[in-house]
Amino acid sequence: MHVFRIPMTLRFRGQTVREGVLIHGPAGWGEFSPFPEYGPAECARWLACAREAAFDGWPAPLRDSVRVNATVPAVGPEKAAEIVRLSHCGTAKVKVGERGQEFAEDMARVEAVRDAIGPRGRVRVDVNGTWDVDSAVRRLKELARFDLEYAEQPCATLDELAAVRRRVDVPIAADESIRRAEDPLKVRAAEAADIAVIKVQPLGGVRNALRVAEACGLPVVVSSAVETSVGLAAGLALAAALPELPYACGLGTMPLLSGDVVTDSLVPVGGVLAVRRPEVDQRALQAHEIESPAWKRRMEEAAATAGEGRQ
Ligand SMILES: [Mg+2]
Repeated sequence: MHVFRIPMTLRFRGQTVREGVLIHGPAGWGEFSPFPEYGPAECARWLACAREAAFDGWPAPLRDSVRVNATVPAVGPEKAAEIVRLSHCGTAKVKVGERGQEFAEDMARVEAVRDAIGPRGRVRVDVNGTWDVDSAVRRLKELARFDLEYAEQPCATLDELAAVRRRVDVPIAADESIRRAEDPLKVRAAEAADIAVIKVQPLGGVRNALRVAEACGLPVVVSSAVETSVGLAAGLALAAALPELPYACGLGTMPLLSGDVVTDSLVPVGGVLAVRRPEVDQRALQAHEIESPAWKRRMEEAAATAGEGRQ
């Protein structure tokens, strides 16, 4: 078990550093990197994903490449345009609704991204649940002038998402509303979203996530939890194994980390990730490895919770 700590290149989700544990088994490397606020029950699912990677491996891929989106954090318009241009992606996801910022800043950022990506590019926004229903309806109607592919989690709750969805033409995607296997079914039942954003670690691995995707019946977008290439490879395996993949995935997040534990990083080229599973490089791993009794404890608690769940 190896604990890593890698600084982020931009503040993301309130984080400036990404930490986690890498485990190795007969099938390869797995990553366990739940966010700091998650408790043992939630962490147990993240651990199941790491164990699947290390001990079971993944289902065979159905495609050899996956389109990914550029991710634009809540930066100024010039920086936003630069991120899009450097990414060479045909799809950009723009963070809006950042606390402490004005909506005018969102408009300027999305406009800059639309200009940079061109009329044929796709632009989606991600609100991370920070708007109330009326604000979301008003703002999405304004943002619609930039021809949005969809809006991710405009409000926090399922009822709010459903209310917004009834009042705007922009398709709605659920992200934070989906953190466990039963959530996509609830999203569907509430008619709260057109698209489900799924992440392989919180859903407990590639096989579990495939079952969830099939059961919910909505088109899915596979997104990362800003992992190293070890964790990203699991998301990529999920994206590669899905029967339908109509949208670019949120797996192009490697540039958000200042380093990696492999040499063949899962960095998109021309907006596309070639489906593969890079090997951990010992030198790269050592460069980011830390001693951390806290992470060891976290993993043990997650494992204990997972054990209880099986009984
Ligand atoms: Mg999101």
